[in-house]
Amino acid sequence: MDDAILVINSGSSSLKFAILAQAGNQLVVEGIAEGLGSSAGHLTIKCDGRKTVQELTQADHKNALVKINSWLEESPSLKSCLKGIGHRIVHGGEFFSASVIIDDNVIKHLNECAELAPLHSPAHLKGIEIAQYLFPTLPQVAVFDTAFHQTIEKEHFLYGIPISYYQDYHFRKYGFHGTSYRYISQKLEECFPLSIQQGVLVAHLGNGASVCAINSGKSSDTSMGLTPLDGLMMGTRSGSVDPSLIAFIAEKEKLTVEETIDVLNKKSGLLGVSEISNDCRLLEEAMQAGNVKAKLALDMFSNRAAKQLMSVATTLNSIDHIVFTGGIGENSTYIREKICTNLKAFNISIDTQKNLNASRGDISSIAQDSSSSKIWIIPTNEEKMIALDTINLIKNDE
Ligand code: ADP
Repeated sequence: MDDAILVINSGSSSLKFAILAQAGNQLVVEGIAEGLGSSAGHLTIKCDGRKTVQELTQADHKNALVKINSWLEESPSLKSCLKGIGHRIVHGGEFFSASVIIDDNVIKHLNECAELAPLHSPAHLKGIEIAQYLFPTLPQVAVFDTAFHQTIEKEHFLYGIPISYYQDYHFRKYGFHGTSYRYISQKLEECFPLSIQQGVLVAHLGNGASVCAINSGKSSDTSMGLTPLDGLMMGTRSGSVDPSLIAFIAEKEKLTVEETIDVLNKKSGLLGVSEISNDCRLLEEAMQAGNVKAKLALDMFSNRAAKQLMSVATTLNSIDHIVFTGGIGENSTYIREKICTNLKAFNISIDTQKNLNASRGDISSIAQDSSSSKIWIIPTNEEKMIALDTINLIKNDE
């Protein structure tokens, strides 16, 4: 097995991991430790078509990684193939515009970025520290969600607030899902080489959702901001709202600012509007059964996505391609059609049959011949991108 890479995505209450081999093309193992920080954690590992679930007593990041390492030690041939570890890092601030090999200086900068991502950064740092302890001989690489967006121009990343807040506190748009956008841009180039010189819009629609404009392979604007709350309406996040709303909600509901932001992060979006679920699949079933609020939530999700797509498109010379990705973008015929219908004024037209017949997990082209932009479904693969970055950086370092 060549170039096996352990990919770690260490979140606040869960830790996902995967081992990819053959230049990221072979998924050997994947798993998730959930309930970290609670008394009832468990670790699920999927390998060779088998799934095992183990209890995690003292469920924290350290014990999760210790258990994963113990599992690996039972497969010494697999463990000995590991060449490196790639960590998904949500926030790289303005320090990181590409993936890097982790050293003391990187850790120092990650600590400085922690203020901007207080939920994620401590978990990432813990994940790195424990992985360094458990796998002392393996090089470790940090891959940032924000890095791809460091090409966005100042006039697009600044907020219209006193500029000293940017200078003093680094308050600006950073954008997220960058690893996915970079992967999609490369995949699209493989299918359609000219795209690397063209204007591309990507809608990454999952539980978290954002859009990105890519001009000649570089991010020129994106919908998420200082935090992943901005932009599109999402599974449980409101996306962009009138900022004054925070004060109104806080006053009426007798909440602190922090609690109000929590409502916008965790109780809003598809869940808040439908009062059913944040899960698009369940909402589509409810809509088909005649539930009006489920349809309203899905239609709001779609029109917000369409508006944000056109907003970031103002940084492009032309809209040559629109790409749908993420769990919803790859799978929801309804949402894709609704978004494209909302874009009809721009001469963008989806082929209903191609949209319906697109085979799951494959790249599909779903525009009508007359459409001014090509429309694609491209499954994203952030783990593969992290594995490839890790391999490339390790090779360059040798
Ligand atoms: P994240 O990585 O942000 O947690 P995903 O990219 O996995 O999210 O996407 C999860 C979303 O994709 C859920 O809302 C889920 O309902 C939706 N989804 C997955 N499969 C389908 C499907 N067949 N039809 C509609 N929505 C789907």
